[in-house]
Amino acid sequence: TQKTAFSGDARRGLRQIRNLVAVASGKGGVGKSTTTINLALALVQEGARVGILDADIYGPSIPIMLGNPDKQPGSEDNKHMQPLEAHGLVANSIGYLVPADDAAIWRGPMASKALQQLLNETLWPELDYLLIDMPPGTGDIQLTLAQQVPVSGAVVVTTPQNVALADAQKAIAMFNKVQVPVLGVIENMSYHQCTQCGYKEHLFAQGGGQRISHQHKVDLLGEIPLDIHIREYTDLGKSLLSEQGDSPISRAYGHAARAL
Ligand code: ADP
Repeated sequence: TQKTAFSGDARRGLRQIRNLVAVASGKGGVGKSTTTINLALALVQEGARVGILDADIYGPSIPIMLGNPDKQPGSEDNKHMQPLEAHGLVANSIGYLVPADDAAIWRGPMASKALQQLLNETLWPELDYLLIDMPPGTGDIQLTLAQQVPVSGAVVVTTPQNVALADAQKAIAMFNKVQVPVLGVIENMSYHQCTQCGYKEHLFAQGGGQRISHQHKVDLLGEIPLDIHIREYTDLGKSLLSEQGDSPISRAYGHAARAL
């Protein structure tokens, strides 16, 4: 077999992971998964060993965004799973394991159990970072995850729009309550710049990420534009960062990733 960056001593559990970082959002659809992927790819570019755990049991997007939705993690003992490799990182997701419509109607305890299995029964190799793409919101699953998993910190993704900010603040409050350090806020869809004339439009209002960062005394790690390439690359399961090379967007993700 081909030797990869992840060959070697894959032991069970989370002990060999240096930083477990939760990527959370209050509201769905603000670009949490897109941000998770691109932060992970930015960390890979920095030379880190990176994994993604897709904890969004009810709406797993990572398999499509990594371009391998039809793959399945291998298993030698029918219990432990070998995470999938794509774009220089490893990942596991409920999306690789059961049809989307099945998981979508699980009750809370089933979903929590699936999450525990993904975490503990995946043969995560030695990693510098495991990014956890959290389910949106601040319900039972999120709280359990934040409490039971030794998360080193959390990143909160929001758009600048009031309805998203209000929920982002709830996510920050939840992490504060369970004493998980909030590493910062990433404002996604901050603006759109016209590809024809260069005009910058703040479609979802302006300055919201900055405002809640001040209020909660956390860093604003980045302001990511609403950009057609971000959408296209994630839809196609391709790596924007490695294929596009240096760009303002790759620098913005790189800057945010270095703060993790
Ligand atoms: P969430 O994980 O918060 O539900 P997603 O990451 O799935 O959100 O993003 C929702 C949709 O918005 C997706 O179709 C994604 O491609 C798109 N999207 C997210 N961020 C951006 C961005 N910065 N520019 C363009 N499209 C984006």
